Amino acid sequence: MSKQHILVKLGWERYKAPKKKQVHFVEDESANTFLNDFKRFPHAYVLACCMDRQMKAEAAWMIPYKIFQIFGDFSMKTLVSKSASDYEKVFRKYKLHRFPESMGKVFYDAVQRIHKIYADDANNIWKDKPSSATVVYRFLEFNGVGIKIATMATNILARDYKIHFSDYYSIDVSPDVHVRRVMSRMGLVEKKASNDKIIYKARELSPDFPGIIDFSLWLLGRTTCKAGKADCENCLVKKECSRCK
Ligand code: SF4
Repeated sequence: MSKQHILVKLGWERYKAPKKKQVHFVEDESANTFLNDFKRFPHAYVLACCMDRQMKAEAAWMIPYKIFQIFGDFSMKTLVSKSASDYEKVFRKYKLHRFPESMGKVFYDAVQRIHKIYADDANNIWKDKPSSATVVYRFLEFNGVGIKIATMATNILARDYKIHFSDYYSIDVSPDVHVRRVMSRMGLVEKKASNDKIIYKARELSPDFPGIIDFSLWLLGRTTCKAGKADCENCLVKKECSRCK
């Protein structure tokens, strides 16, 4: 059996760790509590994923919570009662997103999809141990959601919420600046590797669950392997990094 790459090892250690009380998405703790409330508001997680584009992730993930504060309620009944133009007005008035018209419509479409297809309960997207491909595909069916967000959303459900799927093959890495920088410094891909190359390298390292290395790469990129300075001395993966060998 070939030796497990350190990134894969770290990823599985994290996956097997007990579930945290709360997943940290934003700096505002009340908003985190709201986003983690899968009993009352599982749709908040899905809607936040749908908002996560064309602006900073932190601001995008705050949008459902801000709408909750504006409406004073976040029940599906209330959300479904609003029209696309209601959302556009709210997005514009409260400057929720850089593109209030299109993202107001994305929000509206997502609410309607959860209402019509998932009977007002977003937990139905991932319940009953579906395959990872099924869950990724279900996220892709939301207006505006691309493969990067769909795999990220599915990966967080598996890794942080410990939601079980029948397999994990279709959860790829979501290439971002941190994933790209660390993989290239480690010598896993070249500096200007395409997203496809990054995804396939992760599949080569961990065919059963390629996205298992995603969070470790992201965290390394945010802490020890920053764009300006690489703190190799204190890096967890230095023994397998081509830059430090
Ligand atoms: S050893 Fe240095 S270059 Fe390699 S991943 Fe760690 S911080 Fe980055």
